[in-house]
Amino acid sequence: MRIRRSAVVADAIVVANWSLPHPRSTQEVELHAHLTAGSLPLHNDIDDDYEWVAGVSPVTVFKSSTRSVLKHAFAMWVANWDRLPTRERLASWGLPITTTCPFCSRDNETRDHMLLACEFGREVWKEVFIRCLPPTNILTNWSELLSWIKAARTSELKLIRKVATQAIVFFLWKQRNNLIHNQISIYAASIFAGLDREVRNIISAKRKRKQFSTLMFLWLR
Ligand SMILES: [Zn+2]
Repeated sequence: MRIRRSAVVADAIVVANWSLPHPRSTQEVELHAHLTAGSLPLHNDIDDDYEWVAGVSPVTVFKSSTRSVLKHAFAMWVANWDRLPTRERLASWGLPITTTCPFCSRDNETRDHMLLACEFGREVWKEVFIRCLPPTNILTNWSELLSWIKAARTSELKLIRKVATQAIVFFLWKQRNNLIHNQISIYAASIFAGLDREVRNIISAKRKRKQFSTLMFLWLR
């Protein structure tokens, strides 16, 4: 890892980001993949309150004040910059691996395929769309996803779309890693059940904030 043996986890973090050298081996790539799917370690006695600023990206700021929001926001931030180590990206770095999507084994595993176009993810999206109103056309790429979030008629709908999108990115990426590294296969319905629970928790934790007060109503409809 090119990190000194006596280093503590905090040494590999700058502010609230992992700061690790560019991976050189398959093991290092796997570790990076794992880290992007998890939450950063923080003290239990402090409230999380981070703001992810993605430069000139259309999705500019993610605010978070719960652990689950933080890990969801981080996965979203990495995905938004197309930096998830998908199989196609790993192969483009010269790693001798298959580029096939682990969920469907039909297309190459790119960010847009894995998170939007793949039939597995679509099963999960179907449930999210019931609660956040579906797009006019099927989402096939990242800019269409961002346009769908932006097109929400009310700020509450936009917020719940953001919360749900961050969560689905996190859950699909986590399951993708689980499938590849642990050979654990889970039904899309189970992924949604976990996502649903976390989205409810996020809304409950923030229900005193003005915008969040109507979100549970939107999510449970
Ligand atoms: Zn697929």
